[in-house]
Amino acid sequence: MSGKELAIRMVMADANGQIFDHPELLMLCRHGRQWCLPRPDEVIPLPKESELFLLPGRHAVGLDEHGNTQVTEHLAVAAFLAPAHTISAHPCYESDDKAPLLPLFAYAAVGFAHGRFYVCAKKVDNDPRQQFAHIPRSRIEHHAAELTKRYPANRLVQHIINNCVARYDCPAARNFALGRFEAPLPSSRTCNARCLACISKQEETSPIAVTPQCRLTFTPKATEIAQVMEIHAAREKARPIFSFGQGCEGDPLQNAELLAESIALYRQSNGSGTINVNTNGSRPEVLEALAKTGLTSIRVSLNSARKDLYTCYYRPQGYTFDHVQQSLGIARRLGLFISLNLLFFPGISDTEEELSALSDLVGENGVSMIQWRNLNIDPEWYLDCLAQGPGLPATSGMGLTTFMKRLKRLCPWLVYGYFNPWLGETAKLTAPEPGTWQKPETALTNKEPKEIS
Ligand code: SF4
Repeated sequence: MSGKELAIRMVMADANGQIFDHPELLMLCRHGRQWCLPRPDEVIPLPKESELFLLPGRHAVGLDEHGNTQVTEHLAVAAFLAPAHTISAHPCYESDDKAPLLPLFAYAAVGFAHGRFYVCAKKVDNDPRQQFAHIPRSRIEHHAAELTKRYPANRLVQHIINNCVARYDCPAARNFALGRFEAPLPSSRTCNARCLACISKQEETSPIAVTPQCRLTFTPKATEIAQVMEIHAAREKARPIFSFGQGCEGDPLQNAELLAESIALYRQSNGSGTINVNTNGSRPEVLEALAKTGLTSIRVSLNSARKDLYTCYYRPQGYTFDHVQQSLGIARRLGLFISLNLLFFPGISDTEEELSALSDLVGENGVSMIQWRNLNIDPEWYLDCLAQGPGLPATSGMGLTTFMKRLKRLCPWLVYGYFNPWLGETAKLTAPEPGTWQKPETALTNKEPKEIS
């Protein structure tokens, strides 16, 4: 059902932070610079474990019965969604001149109808790995305390528990404490990119005053990393996954030799499971050594498959988008399962130009999976950065659902999800070898939504 059929009301907040729906105005949402009613395929009830945010200095905007936009004096509201959900539209608001930059979260449009909140989003993964509502906090704390007591000399164990669980409530770290699913392996203090919305480090001149996490302050030894893997494998016996490349570090390929040594240590002691690296994919030359020692998969982050948009956001230092493309092709030739960590931004990531570029990147390099993640950034700031750099897209977005369908038409082997999958030690690949893909002629057509003036 569309927003209009459901008659979803605009949601706003008063100065005391009380959130309420407008008695008449309908919810609007935005895809890039375009404001419109929510599309029929993009409204879902607010997922459990999501949070509502008030947006300071931003006035909620809704649609009146005559089809005109109305700016209210009340604060705009957005939803930060539970993991496994990708936002398909941002909220509509009008900002004051002095509105502060929003912190690094993803802001989903939210409305209210029939006694419940609705958001513009899509559930993209059924894996329960980051659901914690049913787990008492005391259980996590109990296991965390046991681990720190049992491994006092392992700085990585201490970091994951005392920093990532206790300070940041990181879901991957909580899962390590609980001994389930995917264990984080932070290892790198440095990075060769300067992403606009890096969550672990910003330059002194950055308008972002606070990052949600702080960069790792030490480099663990290979023996410490291998021990973390062994601890996790002894507790998550069925489907252990280990991932280098976490929110609290730089890029793990900066320390490729350390990764290779750690993986070798673990595999030499018959360590099983999926070993994955989350990376910006900037160092194609190091992948062969990692694959040989027992790496299973690589997840490469991108805000766009187009070089100019990528460069505007990543601000790479000493590498280019071409190196990222090379990494994908090499990884596929080495038999690695490749995911793209696609940092989706409604209205920018779902255009015709992006579909064409992304399908080429996926098809020509044998990418196996798209992880539909959210670009955590102040929406207006990102649009301004793009406008001042490569420019905003000439066409409007087709919507997340249509984009996903059309991409799958072009690349039918693609797996969609949100999390790194368990693949055993060695992935079975169905993605084409580089250079063998023939782009299909047809894809579902785009249907433009009606824009609100
Ligand atoms: S690649 Fe990762 S660590 Fe490096 S700047 Fe970007 S977000 Fe930060």
